[in-house]
Amino acid sequence: MKRNIDMNEVSDGKLYTANDMVKMGCNDCSGCSDCCTGMGSSILLDPYDIYQMTKNLNRSFDQLMSCNLVGEEGTLRVIGLDIVDGLILPHLNMAGVRERCTFLNEEGRCSIHGFRPGFCRLFPLGRIYENGTFHYFHQVYECKKSHRTKVKVNKWLGIPNLKKYEQFVLDWHDFLETAGAEVRGSSDENAVKQTGLSLLYVFYRKPYDFQRDFYEQFYEKLEELI
Ligand code: SF4
Ligand code: SF4
Repeated sequence: MKRNIDMNEVSDGKLYTANDMVKMGCNDCSGCSDCCTGMGSSILLDPYDIYQMTKNLNRSFDQLMSCNLVGEEGTLRVIGLDIVDGLILPHLNMAGVRERCTFLNEEGRCSIHGFRPGFCRLFPLGRIYENGTFHYFHQVYECKKSHRTKVKVNKWLGIPNLKKYEQFVLDWHDFLETAGAEVRGSSDENAVKQTGLSLLYVFYRKPYDFQRDFYEQFYEKLEELI
């Protein structure tokens, strides 16, 4: 999602790589679930997230889309869709009057911690894309915990084979940039709709083969659409 932000206002002014230490450790979030509530539709899900969620929850994307969990505040829908920069993309739903993520359990802990989406792993880091690469930055005012400790970015993310994942993040970002610019510049409503639906189908709705590597399949899907 494109955001115009003033780095001096939101961050400590530094850019980080996966090997850098950042003062963001929050004692395992004990007693806090602030960033799992009230996030609106901002927790976007990428194809890696959907691969992990469909595999570990044993449900297809379409099942997750129509999956209604019954929680303390009634019936909760897990995933929603939104138009983001001209493209149809899925996001985690916040539900109920307290706008809680549907995966937040009664103890205020993430019930899918081991395969939580990349956005959740990243927080309170953000990514800034420049000159064909990206860096991490620390959104210093987002997490209110005090006495934060230094943590290495790659440990914080906890994603296996991080180099491959970071390349995927970059390639996915570039693909969305190109596809988004195309649809925003088009006056052909049918073509715009078709592009959005094809992207949604190929990267999200079309099942992944869990016996195979995610990245191999992602690049095959990318070939289908470019
Ligand atoms: S706001 Fe900070 S301490 Fe609270 S859940 Fe999020 S990362 Fe953890
Ligand atoms: S998936 Fe987990 S970490 Fe992410 S918002 Fe929901 S409860 Fe929080």
